[in-house]
Amino acid sequence: MTDHPNSFGMRDRLRWWGIVCLFVATLIGCATPTSPLSALPAKHSVRAEQLLVQSDFKLSRQDPLIVDLEELRENVGETLDVPMQDREVVVYLFSNESEYSEYMQRAYPNLPPRRAFFIGSPAELAVYAFWGSQVKVDLRHEYTHGLLHAGLKTVPLWLDEGIAEYFEVTGSDPKRINVEHAQRLSTAVQNGWRPDLRRLEGIDDVAEMHRLDYQESWAWVHFLLHDSADTRMILLDYLKELRDTSQPGSLADHIESEMPHAADRLLGYVSGFFLPHATAATF
Ligand SMILES: [Zn+2]
Repeated sequence: MTDHPNSFGMRDRLRWWGIVCLFVATLIGCATPTSPLSALPAKHSVRAEQLLVQSDFKLSRQDPLIVDLEELRENVGETLDVPMQDREVVVYLFSNESEYSEYMQRAYPNLPPRRAFFIGSPAELAVYAFWGSQVKVDLRHEYTHGLLHAGLKTVPLWLDEGIAEYFEVTGSDPKRINVEHAQRLSTAVQNGWRPDLRRLEGIDDVAEMHRLDYQESWAWVHFLLHDSADTRMILLDYLKELRDTSQPGSLADHIESEMPHAADRLLGYVSGFFLPHATAATF
């Protein structure tokens, strides 16, 4: 990611727009393509369980990218204890950035230019991305959105992003530290920032979502999954609730009743990412 909010390389606002489209598509019309002039990639397709990747270049079923996404699906299901469903997530994988951006500008003129995109609707769970140096991370992030929306009745905006950020991290680190987020949060703490989950839960408009909110979403997810068996169970229980209802309660309420001073604990957790003595334990 980059710090330049108008950069094509920045995905997070795009992600948010994607999620916003998911929730308010009928209000702002951003999930309805306005022009068929640019074709979606369709010459080749690869299927792997829920995943269907369509492209204009040949991609093997054994391609590391496809294998990685298969493993990701398994990992998301196991980690979150969310049963994976059959509902298809279609990835429209363009050959290059220019073809992708041309299509997106024609089909979704109201959306800002971004590097990858998830748009969910009752008709389709779709990911738009292009082949490039960041494709693996982009697809891990967006496919995670697809898996969540296939398996849950609803996903609060902040949690959707926090979980997708958590699973986009590649590599063998079992702690899945997003180094950039951890560094920025550590700096924010030094500058007086304090976490506030209720405030995050109240954000339902992308225009109100700032980079630090986005990083805080990742931090809450990471904290709940890794701090202790109890914190992990709070998140897993909440995800079970999301399987059954489209109008879930507040996770902050659950946390408050089961874990006093949660914000202080998160603050300590975030501050500890780069403490010399904690380094060995947290990485
Ligand atoms: Zn996202």
